[in-house]
Amino acid sequence: MKNRLSTGATIGILGGGQLGRMMALAAHRLGLNTHIYCPDENSPAFAVTPHKTVAAYEDIAALTKFAQSVDCVTYEFENVPAQTAAAITEAGTELFPSAKALEISQDRLVEKRFISTVGIEVAPYAKVDSQQELDIALEKIGLPAVLKTRRFGYDGKGQTMLKTAQDVETAFDAIGAQPAILEGFVPFEKEISVIIARDQAGHVAAYDPAENVHQNHILKTSTVPGNINVDVCETAKSIATQLIVALDYVGVMGVEFFVVQTNSGTQLVVNEIAPRVHNSGHWTQAACLNDQFEQHIRAVAGWDLGSPERHADVVMENLIGDEIIAGMKTTESNTQVHHYGKSEIRAGRKMGHINRIFAKKGVN
Ligand code: AMP
Repeated sequence: MKNRLSTGATIGILGGGQLGRMMALAAHRLGLNTHIYCPDENSPAFAVTPHKTVAAYEDIAALTKFAQSVDCVTYEFENVPAQTAAAITEAGTELFPSAKALEISQDRLVEKRFISTVGIEVAPYAKVDSQQELDIALEKIGLPAVLKTRRFGYDGKGQTMLKTAQDVETAFDAIGAQPAILEGFVPFEKEISVIIARDQAGHVAAYDPAENVHQNHILKTSTVPGNINVDVCETAKSIATQLIVALDYVGVMGVEFFVVQTNSGTQLVVNEIAPRVHNSGHWTQAACLNDQFEQHIRAVAGWDLGSPERHADVVMENLIGDEIIAGMKTTESNTQVHHYGKSEIRAGRKMGHINRIFAKKGVN
């Protein structure tokens, strides 16, 4: 085990949203300090950290000072610019997960190639840099298909569905005429995800897979156990393990899958990997003694991981926009509510979540 941080050591966190906030809360419960770096003065994480820097991700002087004032740095979002990551390591401070995890997950083409190299199934895909290349890609992939920007896509943004020849004509412009990939449409039965952690000594701990339901392209619920059999659960965990090991990764990672029924049985196709704590892992706060935020802090701090064992069945529901108002009034005995401390309610904005636990029935 290298670089085990002691009580009172400070973890730097790039990004001040709800994920950074919940990471900071977990760190403080373990006796560790946090320093949050975020350009937005109104970041929800600032309320729960003793140290903060409000500066741009391009501000190398501010980043250097931040990096030199902490014992390691982690992040809550995958779009950390490459030069930001480089500024941290050039200041002599370790970044977890590494810049390699960022490079791979920031670009859908690089990500698909990486996952395929590990021998894991992804949707059929082709690179598209122009309308002309889209036509060529369609010959290979066929319709229906999904055209996605290679970078900066999230919650369904930067992507468009192609069903007809007419959709094809406008598709490249519709996503802003940027470098893209065309993916074959995967006729999935359901979507699941695995939250997995790896520590600095290489030990891995995977949580049970969650079945995820989206509304308006935003995660609405994560249910554990999902309606999937034990073999599928074990395969999903095993695929997540292969990926996290291949990345030589330190921290918590989310792996999203499509579950597809084929003539030869159930198939798992990896949609994407997120090099961070993940919304579909918030259920761990109520159904596991060591949640994903604690697990991430333990890994980056050079500590041993906690157990990912689940002691209850659970449904996590995101509170989006004004759902937060009714959600915060929930007081049922099986219910845990979380408010992210965002002062302004906006439509489509993740404001908080509810975890509802039930007696544990399923084994998967
Ligand atoms: P993404 O931003 O890649 O996670 O995509 C957002 C959502 O769009 C996914 O959770 C799926 O519901 C849907 N989606 C994305 N790619 C595909 C695909 N190749 N086939 C079918 N559905 C997809």
